Amino acid sequence: MPKSARNEGRAGALLTVDIGAVVRNWQLLNSKLSGARCAAVVKADAYGLGAGRIASALSWAGCKDFFVAHIDEGVSLRSSLATQRIFVLHGPFPGTEKVFLEHDLIPVLNAPWQLEVWRRLAAKEGRNLPVVLHLDTGMTRLGFTPAETDALLADAAAFTGLDIQLVMSHLACGDELNNRMNAEQHLLFSEMVSRFRATVAPQLPCSLAASSGIFLGARYHGDMVRPGIALYGGAPQEGVPNPMEPVIRLQGKILRLQEVEKGQTVGYGASYRAPVKGRVATVGVGYADGYLRSLSGKAHAYFKGQRVPLIGRVSMDLLTFDVSHLPENAVKPGDYLDLIGKDNPIDTIARQAGTISYEVLTALGHRYYRHYIGET
Ligand SMILES: *Cc1c(COP(=O)(O)O)cnc(C)c1O
Repeated sequence: MPKSARNEGRAGALLTVDIGAVVRNWQLLNSKLSGARCAAVVKADAYGLGAGRIASALSWAGCKDFFVAHIDEGVSLRSSLATQRIFVLHGPFPGTEKVFLEHDLIPVLNAPWQLEVWRRLAAKEGRNLPVVLHLDTGMTRLGFTPAETDALLADAAAFTGLDIQLVMSHLACGDELNNRMNAEQHLLFSEMVSRFRATVAPQLPCSLAASSGIFLGARYHGDMVRPGIALYGGAPQEGVPNPMEPVIRLQGKILRLQEVEKGQTVGYGASYRAPVKGRVATVGVGYADGYLRSLSGKAHAYFKGQRVPLIGRVSMDLLTFDVSHLPENAVKPGDYLDLIGKDNPIDTIARQAGTISYEVLTALGHRYYRHYIGET
């Protein structure tokens, strides 16, 4: 992970990550389960928030299963986790076998060729190796297709040397409570799991739900759920109140305040023209910091709870806000405007930018001074 700004005084913005809130979100999700394990998805550096610190805190809270996407994410994570299981969602590439064994990483096998690589490795090692099998029930990205699954189950030697720890699949529309694809995928997955249980082991654990799937009801929980975004405060379901606690607060530093005359333009393209005389605050954050350019003319910031509209275009390193209605002398250079936080949740920013909270989080840059709170 790139180095973040080292010094709050020198950075254009302050990003506060509340690790305690991540832990409480994990505990809330865990409390919705009866018997299923609650894993944590910490791929992409825990959605940009810091995988090592978050995984350590969650493991203290009792989380024993962690998912990353890339092999090297697993290698880094191992230095923060002692005995917890680390699953690598992308699975192995040929030639990477040693890395998995050295760092005790468990591959998710997503295609027949990956299973073949691992079967060969097991034969060479002369022991059973832990794996997860990913079955495709409708995403058409990774995972054994129904036909590949049939072929696998018909082959008596298919699982030689493999210690299958979990059979998993992934929902395409889990964030939509009433989408019938959820029930269809659930049915297909249940049938596949039954066949695996009949062939491999009667107690073989299964996992279907990510954050959103947890809220579809207990039958979607299986033996393990794999939340990511909900841990980081993102809304797991569309169109209902978000039960998760916000995790980040992004405060942009005011570099300059100035009066503008009626008709004066602000920013690139002169896209904003002051309708009346007013005041503009310039803040040291831009699209290079993940404050998406598509927020131009749409977003707001907050100053001590008061809303101030973003005006003009988002630049690479700068933002401009209309602070005309704040009392004069209320703000001064060096003060912070809240760009993201309790008043301005990541899902609101995402909607205004025409994207999803996942992209808002993973786009967060590394020029912020990062402040971690709530670690115990
Ligand atoms: C990213 C991912 C998750 C976590 O998804 P969220 O929607 O963030 O909870 C779970 N499972 C798989 C396979 C994933 O790729």
